[in-house]
Amino acid sequence: MKIRVIGGGPAGLFYAYLMKRDDPSHDVVVYERDPENATYGWGVVFSDVALSFVKDLAPELYEAITRKQVVFDEMAVVHQGVNVTLAHNTFHRMARINLLKGLHEQCRKVGVEIEFERRFDDVDSFADADLIVAADGANSAIRSRYKEQFQPSLDERPNYMAWYGTTKLFPALSLIFRQNEDGLVISHTYQFSPTHSTFLVEVDPETFRKAGLDKMNEAESLAYCEKAFAQDLDGNALLSNKSNWFRYTIVKNKNWHYKNIVLIGDALRTGHPSVGSGTRLAMQDSIALFDAYKKCGPDVPAMLEEYVKIRQPGSDSLQKAAIKSTEWYEDLSPKLHLDPISFAYDYLTRSGRVDHAEVRKRDPKLAAAYEQLHPELTF
Ligand SMILES: Cc1cc2nc3c(=O)[nH]c(=O)nc-3n(C[C@H](O)[C@H](O)[C@H](O)COP(=O)(O)OP(=O)(O)OC[C@H]3O[C@@H](n4cnc5c(N)ncnc54)[C@H](O)[C@@H]3O)c2cc1C
Repeated sequence: MKIRVIGGGPAGLFYAYLMKRDDPSHDVVVYERDPENATYGWGVVFSDVALSFVKDLAPELYEAITRKQVVFDEMAVVHQGVNVTLAHNTFHRMARINLLKGLHEQCRKVGVEIEFERRFDDVDSFADADLIVAADGANSAIRSRYKEQFQPSLDERPNYMAWYGTTKLFPALSLIFRQNEDGLVISHTYQFSPTHSTFLVEVDPETFRKAGLDKMNEAESLAYCEKAFAQDLDGNALLSNKSNWFRYTIVKNKNWHYKNIVLIGDALRTGHPSVGSGTRLAMQDSIALFDAYKKCGPDVPAMLEEYVKIRQPGSDSLQKAAIKSTEWYEDLSPKLHLDPISFAYDYLTRSGRVDHAEVRKRDPKLAAAYEQLHPELTF
């Protein structure tokens, strides 16, 4: 098959790799608009389950991307200055650049061509391709070009976010809630290498305006966040990598394919940073599209129907959980009076997918502490 992939992020590269490894006679080219070593963001996280998909299907790729990973077992919720630990939440963390390097290395080994600094906003150049994979991220130009066909819905959430790094190491994936004179500031932070942590800051619109963040430049915003989280950063600086404020857009598409063009990854559907699953969701799309090929062969219409059939239920359910999680962060004022244990418990059960029995199983210490604080409740 002649396959053209637009976008060299985790989704596009992983799909290209799986196809070419399966059959070297496929002609697979990935076009990436940025230079080879450019990346935004800092680290990425994968839950144990998420990475097991890659390990089962492509152990050599798993080895390449996890060479420099760090793995820790704990989460922490910091509220009212108290650190509540949530046990047994294993996350693999790695620098996004190392994930991409591992993918480049394995793609090249099997013969995928990657052309950097090649941007395509439509598919006119690929008239003779059998399959065109639009893996061009959340702001997908291909999706916009064919918006009547894909029928996307773009839901821009109200909270503001900025993606910083720091040399302060947070081995526990930590959610830090700090109240100051302007309102509430939140950090989602985790160590992703021996030397650095990702430090995502989230601020609601009211706090954002009251703090004057809408009028600050990048350096002033960074200084504000350093001050807001001074106790947590222990004198370490925040680091910027094009870390401008943005509002997260939840992307959905009514139709996942049109003719021989198919959407995967963030171009198809976004999760939310608070559930740390964007990269996982993207790579699971690649697996589903590959599995559809294995079932249907090069019959493109049948393959694309099969892709939707395999992938839609899992994708919808994770996105639903991500939306619930997003909403939890957007409506925290009624919960801020809660004591740190009850607040952490509320966080853990926010998506509706974890009930008390599950908390007891996962973290008996937290369940017991919560039961003691709430004798009025029957469990
Ligand atoms: C600012 C920001 C920072 C992020 N940081 C993190 C993080 O630290 N940790 C984390 O877990 N998740 C992070 N995410 C989310 C995560 O990046 C995505 O969920 C995940 O990468 C999705 O993979 P993808 O391959 O679908 O898309 P992307 O990773 O977005 O890859 C799409 C690729 O397509 C390229 N491209 C775009 N348009 C074109 C075009 N017209 N022609 C050719 N190429 C094109 C882009 O340069 C990009 O390389 C971040 C998201 C944003 C917006």
